[in-house]
Amino acid sequence: MSTPHPGRLEVIVGPMFSGKSEELIRRLKRARIARQRVVCFKPDIDLRYHRTSIASHSSHTHEATTISNVERLREALAPQLDAIEVVGVDEAQFLDESIIPLAMELVHLGKRVLIAGLDTTFSNEPFGPIPVLMALADEVSKLSAVCMTCGAPAIHTQRLGQSQELVVVGAAGLYEARCRACFRPFVDEHGSEQLELLNN
Ligand code: ADP
Ligand code: MG
Ligand code: ZN
Repeated sequence: MSTPHPGRLEVIVGPMFSGKSEELIRRLKRARIARQRVVCFKPDIDLRYHRTSIASHSSHTHEATTISNVERLREALAPQLDAIEVVGVDEAQFLDESIIPLAMELVHLGKRVLIAGLDTTFSNEPFGPIPVLMALADEVSKLSAVCMTCGAPAIHTQRLGQSQELVVVGAAGLYEARCRACFRPFVDEHGSEQLELLNN
């Protein structure tokens, strides 16, 4: 049965430091001003600042529940679902594909769903479930940061140093925002930046 008033999926993407968390927090706070009931979640991989809130690099915060996976998110939502109007999720790139059907279920139940996450990895690959969520969204906000090399608008997250692991969260000085011209997707074992992908 479809509801007469479906909700809405809003996806907020961009590189690190582009203001995704800030924007998510701003929308959640405005929803609360409008007296809507709001809940927010984040994966427990990202414990940089607080266990019980999401935070931006500029220190804005909003209360959030830490969940280890999408199943836990579903369980945490279930008992309060009828009372809730807005569901926020930060750092959603760390969740698996099952966030996609859950987000769409919530939309069809009339909820406003706000999802923030990185659209690409430091190797410039689409990141986890985010690209599909962008495709299914009512509205996508693709934010840019400021390139730390030249000051232009930055759409990439540059991994500094040598680690090739996909997920290295929160280590200070490990990532910076870069524009297309200054971004280097590969770093060799000596730490020097490569342009192999672009030259092939
Ligand atoms: P995200 O969630 O996208 O990583 P945040 O909302 O946490 O971004 O942080 C955005 C804030 O980070 C900006 O308002 C600014 O104060 C700060 N900041 C630090 N470095 C940069 C940068 N290179 N470009 C833009 N903002 C930056
Ligand atoms: Mg963030
Ligand atoms: Zn640049």
